[in-house]
Amino acid sequence: MNAKEKNILDSVIYSYSTESNQTSEENRILKDTVNKMREELEKFKAPPLMVCEVRNVFDKEAVVRLPNGNQFYVSVSNECGKVRPGDVVLADQKNLVVIRKIPSTRKFDVENFVIVEKPKVSWGSIGGLSAQANEIKEVVELPLKKPELFKKVGITPPKGILLYGAPGTGKTLLAKAVAASTNSTFIQIVASELVQKFIGEGAKMVKEIFELARKRAPSIVFIDELDALAAKRIEMGTSGEREVNRTFMQLLAEIDGFNPLDNVKIIGATNRKDILDSAVTRPGRLDRLIHVPLPKKDGRLEILKIHSQNMSLEPDVDLINLSMIMEDMSGAEIKAVCTEAGYFAIRSDRIKVTREDMLKAVDKVKHEEQEEGQDYMNMFG
Ligand code: ATP
Repeated sequence: MNAKEKNILDSVIYSYSTESNQTSEENRILKDTVNKMREELEKFKAPPLMVCEVRNVFDKEAVVRLPNGNQFYVSVSNECGKVRPGDVVLADQKNLVVIRKIPSTRKFDVENFVIVEKPKVSWGSIGGLSAQANEIKEVVELPLKKPELFKKVGITPPKGILLYGAPGTGKTLLAKAVAASTNSTFIQIVASELVQKFIGEGAKMVKEIFELARKRAPSIVFIDELDALAAKRIEMGTSGEREVNRTFMQLLAEIDGFNPLDNVKIIGATNRKDILDSAVTRPGRLDRLIHVPLPKKDGRLEILKIHSQNMSLEPDVDLINLSMIMEDMSGAEIKAVCTEAGYFAIRSDRIKVTREDMLKAVDKVKHEEQEEGQDYMNMFG
């Protein structure tokens, strides 16, 4: 074999061996992929397991409670190990044999469904509500900061307050400000969500929310749209009404159950004080009622100053004059006017907001408000 023939043979052997290496590599990757797909397929074929709570244990059998409230006497599989009452377990759907224990999801539940935060709202960022702010300081801030004062004087502060007034007037803002000034955990629940989202679980949620509040004390439990839970009810026919009532009863039990000088305070908020059940405002419950009204002229000016303080305004913008034409507007609407005016400036390629922008924004927000009112009238007559 001459040198040329040897070179050709070498290159054939080389390319043959690299090609066979490549094929076996491809083969390996395909096998891996098939295995992974099989595993995935198995997952899709496996029936879902039921999450239940163990109520009672009898050697290798147990009474479990399903999420719908029904209870069954079932076997516990050997693989599951020892179960105890209160454990959360997974059971087969057909015969409910307990298969596995899972970590209790209690804490995880509440914290995922309510807003828990340490707000940073300062009293200075609230306009026109100084009387209300002072009252809240007296009822919530003072007992949290100086409980010994109340012990010395021998009086018990109210456990909670009820803020009532038109939408967007700053009720949530006040509650957050007092949480910030007392460095409390702020736990916000929207009552309508509590009864709509957690059907059958509302009462349990209320219990757990208050447990969380005690654990994270000092804390403020803020219940928005309280009327959804605590409205006067004449009938209790449907299961939905009974459910709301159970949740409401649990709320009252929680309020009654803690000491006024515990580091937990409750602030309820509603736009419909007229339909509230008097049980919630009875002495010893949310018995300090604070009206949060639509801002007057001076209040509107304060709110306008707060929301425009970071805006670039042309000198022709007269806030006093604007506050006068903003009659009947809530704090939230005044804030909306500032934002809209900013948008008018951006749309005209300017970075400074003019008087004209502000006036157009007032008009726009007023119109939106009227249209909303009209829609409501059309819907409910
Ligand atoms: P709702 O009854 O609809 O829950 P609310 O009374 O709780 O409304 P907030 O959520 O506190 O109203 O207000 C909405 C927004 O409007 C606030 O985030 C704030 O920016 C602005 N706002 C309302 N009132 C005031 C106020 N008095 N001072 C400054 N800003 C205000």
